[in-house]
Amino acid sequence: MEDNRIYYSYSEYLKKKYGEKVYKLPVNLPVSCPNRKEGAGCSFCAEEGTGFEAAGAMVPVREQLMASREKVEKRYHAKKFIAYFQNYTNTFLPLDTLRAYMQQAAEVESIVEVCLSTRPDCIRKDYLRAMADFRAETGLEVSLELGLQTVNYHTLRKVNRGHGLAEFLDAVLAIAPYKFPVCVHMILNLPGDTMEDAKESARILSALPVSMVKLHSLYIPKKSVLYQEYRNGRISICAKEEYLERLAEFIALLRPDIAVERLFARIPEKDSAFCNWGHSWWKLTDEWTALMKEKQYVQGVHCDYLNGAALNRWGL
Ligand code: SF4
Repeated sequence: MEDNRIYYSYSEYLKKKYGEKVYKLPVNLPVSCPNRKEGAGCSFCAEEGTGFEAAGAMVPVREQLMASREKVEKRYHAKKFIAYFQNYTNTFLPLDTLRAYMQQAAEVESIVEVCLSTRPDCIRKDYLRAMADFRAETGLEVSLELGLQTVNYHTLRKVNRGHGLAEFLDAVLAIAPYKFPVCVHMILNLPGDTMEDAKESARILSALPVSMVKLHSLYIPKKSVLYQEYRNGRISICAKEEYLERLAEFIALLRPDIAVERLFARIPEKDSAFCNWGHSWWKLTDEWTALMKEKQYVQGVHCDYLNGAALNRWGL
């Protein structure tokens, strides 16, 4: 982490890994999600899944990548890119089909990595082996984004995640021997969760071979099950100040080498009934930065609970 930084940002991580700025280019595949096939899906999930920025799923991968690459190249003078298979559950495809889409991405110039967004219960050894072969053949990195959202397995059940904490732990440990960087998606203010859940989430992630976290403050898409609960007053969302406090404690407990990709939700306002307490994410970032400074916190300042903490405390 650079000296004057409060947290280790994902952009800093990428710069260190690739020697320059790298940008993610979203790709939508014609894929679904087992949790939607078997029921209504996660209660916070919008009908279109989690990809708001990408093109239609029927547009060929190359075309999607070329279109967004052109925009990003012009705007940021970028030279290296990550093909980000963003929407729904990308490993919920027959392996050959997934491999073919990855190959299409690999054939686009300046792609250095393929990032697959998925669920813990869609990680299996044959898929991991195929990804390792792909990496060996193409020389491209493969990274995985796993949705977890909270370590509180009671909350996971309430929001209908369709998996618990155990499946997440199993997936992370199954990925570890392949050394694919793993990013974990978390929501620190799911209804029913408390500050203790946010803190325990940071502790559990820090004890695992995780490379990145992506944090979202809870937002309520109009086309979600949660929207009905919100409208009927059956759930409440914690105050902004409470979220900022949870975020501060989470980052203070998080292992310093875990890169942080996002701190607040970012979705189009028109699609949501609630998002970021009506504030812009950069205003919230400013407020949170001020809070971190007031507390004299930086990432990992309280990450001293690992590696025989009691032995260390007692000088043994
Ligand atoms: S796992 Fe992702 S795509 Fe599937 S229902 Fe949940 S949020 Fe939606």
